[in-house]
Amino acid sequence: MKFIGDKIAIGEIPVSELAERFGTPTYVYDEQKIRKNYRRAFNAFAKHYPDFKMFYAVKSCNNPAIVNILRQEGAGVDAASVNEILLAKHVGLGGEDVMFSGNFLSDEDIRQGLESGVIFNLDDISILPRLLKFGKPEILSFRVNPGYGKSNVGEFVTNAGPNAKFGIHPDKVMDAYRMAKEAGVKRFGAHMMTGSCITDAEYFPFVTGLLMDIIGKAGRELKIDFEFIDLGGGLGIPYKPGEAALDLEKAAELTAKMFRDKVAEYGLKPPQLKMEPARYFVGNAGYIIGRVHSIKESYKKIAGTDIGMNTLARPAMYGSYHHIYVDGKEQDPRAAIGLCGQLCENTDFWVKERELPSTIAEGDLVVVENAGAYGFGMSYQYNGRLRPAEVLVNGDEATLIRTREDFDDMIRHTFVPSRLKS
Ligand SMILES: *Cc1c(COP(=O)(O)O)cnc(C)c1O
Repeated sequence: MKFIGDKIAIGEIPVSELAERFGTPTYVYDEQKIRKNYRRAFNAFAKHYPDFKMFYAVKSCNNPAIVNILRQEGAGVDAASVNEILLAKHVGLGGEDVMFSGNFLSDEDIRQGLESGVIFNLDDISILPRLLKFGKPEILSFRVNPGYGKSNVGEFVTNAGPNAKFGIHPDKVMDAYRMAKEAGVKRFGAHMMTGSCITDAEYFPFVTGLLMDIIGKAGRELKIDFEFIDLGGGLGIPYKPGEAALDLEKAAELTAKMFRDKVAEYGLKPPQLKMEPARYFVGNAGYIIGRVHSIKESYKKIAGTDIGMNTLARPAMYGSYHHIYVDGKEQDPRAAIGLCGQLCENTDFWVKERELPSTIAEGDLVVVENAGAYGFGMSYQYNGRLRPAEVLVNGDEATLIRTREDFDDMIRHTFVPSRLKS
């Protein structure tokens, strides 16, 4: 995003032109920014640990065009469900380029996961006997809960520690690998995903140390060589203006050092280092363009736009902050104004009060920043306010990559028994 005078552009295209062409609300992604984000993250770690591979957690933004950008850059896919494995296959990725990290899997998930031939990353020891009923995976990994997690999105996405639903308790990790080895599994990996949106560089080496102590002991005692160890995602981005960014170089250097030190300490054969960020790749490369439809002066001044909590769920769901710009008016004097969507829920009043241009008026365009991750993917159809369009910008070129939903989409897959039609 940049300003051309007081007009906002994404890539080289003014948002007014994008709104004219594609309507509102619309998610817009900047291809060049995604590529730069990937390269920055990849190079930071690969520089210190060359046997390094990154997977893109597709749940964050699952448009196949976006997944293809990251595939072209060299990323694999982290899949949370069988359908996300199918999405990876849809863009030409399979086998060991895909990690399946689902949790609380059904038998059908397990059967299809095995059949797909991707890397199985089990969330618990209890799933192993069920998995073995269906077959023996070529390579098996366990998700470890190392007892500590952290997140800038609050408790909501703290994915490890005693209050998390994810991962194996440290005391059961040894038994899990032993059971798998005794069942004849030959190739192993290990995994954790302890939190999201972390901007504290020291956190990454710290949790790496926790995981490596657990995995190191299992490897040494069971004489297992780990082919890979996956440190998860969680690389954070700032959402508020002025918020400190993650010192990526420092995080990578310290993490790689901790990793190498622990590999040496436990006498492990050096494993491939994997990570699976998502927010860091796509978060700041995505925007929502919406239009102000009505301004109300009631107990407060409220601008109503077509960006509702169904378009962008994070503020209503997690209390997350997203910065908002008003096209053409950022230089104007500011006043405390609220912003809401068009839904019949008060959680849709997702900015209760913020300093916005006091001249905000009907017809203005607003741009919501940092909406690329957990934006469209969490959108839904409540109130007949349907899912928005998605557009990919590459320099001065804009391409529709998902059409806006319409009424047919709203009633798709529904059936009315004939007795109700008379
Ligand atoms: C969501 C998720 C990620 C990506 O997390 P970010 O914080 O967006 O980097 C990685 N791995 C797993 C297993 C996930 O569920």
